[in-house]
Amino acid sequence: MGSRYIVSACLAGVRCRYDGDAKTDPRIEGLVRAGLALPVCPEQLGGLPTPRPPAEIQGGDGHDVLAGKARVINERGEDVTAAYIRGARETLHLARLFGATEALLKGRSPSCGRDLIYDGTFQRKLRSGPGVTAACLQEAGIRLRVED
Ligand code: SF4
Repeated sequence: MGSRYIVSACLAGVRCRYDGDAKTDPRIEGLVRAGLALPVCPEQLGGLPTPRPPAEIQGGDGHDVLAGKARVINERGEDVTAAYIRGARETLHLARLFGATEALLKGRSPSCGRDLIYDGTFQRKLRSGPGVTAACLQEAGIRLRVED
């Protein structure tokens, strides 16, 4: 059997992004249509509304957030760390249930980004490291791929 994927729902045309829009990728939609991919939005699964204020990780990357060493702060200065961690854990639950061995995730998101995320200054500056969900999936042995 080929790989099964967990995919960022915004790439499958779901309007779940912070700005209430999608980032549709026809290839991802095709994987979902074929029954090979399960779309999830970790930020919605974590209980955040849509639209929502953009958020960035301050003081580290997604691994640091999971380890309690960094926080996720939204543009209003509110600490949304708990929602990000909850969304990551729920996504991992669904990935395991679906039998996903790989993840196709939206780049540069504080949840889904794989190797580049915004640096917490809200100045559109990037730093290296994964988002919270990407880190959680990676720690569980799921291979990450990134889509921009
Ligand atoms: S959390 Fe992931 S799936 Fe949800 S909107 Fe952001 S990038 Fe897309």
